[in-house]
Amino acid sequence: MYQVRILLGVCFLLSLLWDVSAQPSIEIAYLKSSDVKSPSQAEIDFLREAIIKVQSFFASEMDKHGFGKKTFGFNPEIEIIQGKLKVEDWTWESIRDGAYEFDKNHIQNKINIVFVGRRDIFPNRVLGYALPICWRWPGANQLRDDCNWLLIISENRNRLVPALAHEIGHAFGLSHAQQHLPGGGQNIMAAGNDGAELEEYGLRYTDAAFLADWGRLSIQEKVSVAIDADVNNDGYVDLSDVLIVRSAIENNVTYNTDVNNDGITDEVDVLLVKQKAMEAIVAAAPSILRKRKKFVMWSVIKGDSTFGK
Ligand SMILES: [Zn+2]
Repeated sequence: MYQVRILLGVCFLLSLLWDVSAQPSIEIAYLKSSDVKSPSQAEIDFLREAIIKVQSFFASEMDKHGFGKKTFGFNPEIEIIQGKLKVEDWTWESIRDGAYEFDKNHIQNKINIVFVGRRDIFPNRVLGYALPICWRWPGANQLRDDCNWLLIISENRNRLVPALAHEIGHAFGLSHAQQHLPGGGQNIMAAGNDGAELEEYGLRYTDAAFLADWGRLSIQEKVSVAIDADVNNDGYVDLSDVLIVRSAIENNVTYNTDVNNDGITDEVDVLLVKQKAMEAIVAAAPSILRKRKKFVMWSVIKGDSTFGK
């Protein structure tokens, strides 16, 4: 009897440890439809910056409620997925089935995000979906913890940031709640939000306490910083941007050449823009790209895995 009790105690301890160490990791993809151009570096940077904004939103809201600057981490490299359909032809089912394929490749993650490039809105005026996916395989445990979350977000430039924050909230276990916060502002977890700026929103105390208690967020050691290397704002990061930054070290130029925002334009800025320009060249050359990045082809196949809404 005594031995049994010890065993149970040990199991309990192990499950606690597992919970604490299970920090969610987020993988991101950009779904390119067959009739749209490959995303420019600026477009990819825009999406990355949107996630960084949401990341700091959670950090400041958690901090405001007294839990420290807790937030989530993510892989800043955005995978491009070639979709076989035209941008306006994606139905709810085809998006879901295609996004499945991406999720399957990152099944170890608790959260994966797919942005549907150049798509403004989904059927029924929906901006994003949060799907709990419980993959079935022989011997799989059908508990809730075996599920991960797949977020599908439209690339609606005006509403993308709050929509993303809302869906990420669902992925961390938050449900819909009242629209107005006691201290003023809108609740990010209210259904049918309409504000475009993240500053109009907040997290209610109950939700922040839930996130802190369940270890769903943690203090990130380093928040990655997005670099806007398209200095002349022509939509491309290329040699002309490098030349502008180089010339700005000694001359006055009309562009913002301090790309790392450290107060001066120097060789570091030149190197950053050079690196971004190289990435853009690689992104434009499919044969080189395939060697360093995994490409996933989407086919419209009906999946038979279970998932809720
Ligand atoms: Zn919702």
